[in-house]
Amino acid sequence: MMINVTIWNEGRHEKEDAEVGAVYPKGIHNCIAEFLGTNEDLNIRTAVLDDADNGLPEDVLESTDVLLWWGHMAHECVPDELVEKIYNRVMRGMGFIALHSAHFSKAFKRLMGTTCSLKWRDGDRERLWCISPGHPIAKGIPESFIIPVEEMYGERFDIPTPDEIVFMGWFKGGEVFRSGCCWNRGLGKVFYFQPGHECNPTYHIPEVQRIITNAVYWAAPEKVVDEIECPWVPAPEESYDGPNK
Ligand code: ZN
Repeated sequence: MMINVTIWNEGRHEKEDAEVGAVYPKGIHNCIAEFLGTNEDLNIRTAVLDDADNGLPEDVLESTDVLLWWGHMAHECVPDELVEKIYNRVMRGMGFIALHSAHFSKAFKRLMGTTCSLKWRDGDRERLWCISPGHPIAKGIPESFIIPVEEMYGERFDIPTPDEIVFMGWFKGGEVFRSGCCWNRGLGKVFYFQPGHECNPTYHIPEVQRIITNAVYWAAPEKVVDEIECPWVPAPEESYDGPNK
């Protein structure tokens, strides 16, 4: 069965900063689209903030199974109405993968219900530890691997306690971070993944590509509904203990 994947990127850093443009000449979204696109059962679309309807008109959002989100400098430019539509879509079954600085995106904060704040420092070195090797997102990932240059994100990360933690980040400065976290929200599955600062070639690293690919398959919906219902139901004609008297 085909999985419809939409990769949403703010797309501003790549345009405005030559250093970022050199790392991701086609934009972060197209870099991710290229490696995800090698899987024949993934139907990939990309969208950026400056597209019409911010890249997510109704028909695109409604036909998306898994939405990936990269944003940083323009979180506030995403309309609240769109955030509510994304939230509703996740409740009805869509998967949502928040990448790196999307920890502060409106949609991720709405899904978490907390501030999602953290500590940060540019230009550190990270060792990413896989602490749930039996998890589907960890498939094919070694016990640990090094990301030579990555932005340090440190605890405390103000998130609700994850349902599962798959990866822990450890940085040169000694800080640790819950770098790969899973939640169930409504019928939808949410994954947060910390590596991916715009100045670093993190999305070119094979292990990172494998993790994001695994996450897409994990987050694909098991069940999708058209609307959220809270129905009144009549008493059954037969009780579970036998016929009603
Ligand atoms: Zn960053």
